[in-house]
Amino acid sequence: MKDTVRRKPHQRKVYWNEPTLSFWERAYLFEIIRGLAITGTVFTRNMWRWMTGRKGALTTYYPEETRADYAAGNRGKHILTQRPDGSPQCIACNMCATVCPAQVIEIDAAFDPADPAHPKYPSRFEIDYSRCIFCGLCVEACPEDAIRMVKEVPELPAPVRETMWLKKEELLGWQPRSDVAKPYPPKGAAPAAPAAPRH
Ligand code: SF4
Ligand code: SF4
Repeated sequence: MKDTVRRKPHQRKVYWNEPTLSFWERAYLFEIIRGLAITGTVFTRNMWRWMTGRKGALTTYYPEETRADYAAGNRGKHILTQRPDGSPQCIACNMCATVCPAQVIEIDAAFDPADPAHPKYPSRFEIDYSRCIFCGLCVEACPEDAIRMVKEVPELPAPVRETMWLKKEELLGWQPRSDVAKPYPPKGAAPAAPAAPRH
């Protein structure tokens, strides 16, 4: 049956960064030759360096080798700082999760009535490393210095995304740190009374 419905002609979406090709680029063949020349030059240079005993391309034979030349600005991997008894310094205030631009931090808060000094704590604290952009904003936002990033970069890659969820136990355990500047009372002790005002 003949289609009698009048349709609007298809309008191709115009992107703000639409590519513009010169005549030589549109001619195709010259660009292929140029690409092959660049690839061949880099390959030959790296091969020559490798044959003469110098390291040519930045190839790391992962996982046997790990790179030692991370950028100076590399922030590394997150840790959760601990109190002297090993419990997380985190008070589950959710500030880091709120400020995280990638929204990759998930926290479940829990309440411990037997610990009046710090009754709120995270029963679950997870970071999805497959989406974290390592911006460090979570560290900046934390009022307790409970989350930090340390330069050492352990095994970050994973074959499946599900294994890239960093759990509380790993965040507390892989580089354990405590904040000596924050003398928390031992668990179960009453919080210190506020100092009397001086006259
Ligand atoms: S480093 Fe940035 S993206 Fe990663 S968890 Fe912290 S705030 Fe989110
Ligand atoms: S890590 Fe810091 S900002 Fe995040 S929930 Fe814990 S105390 Fe709050």
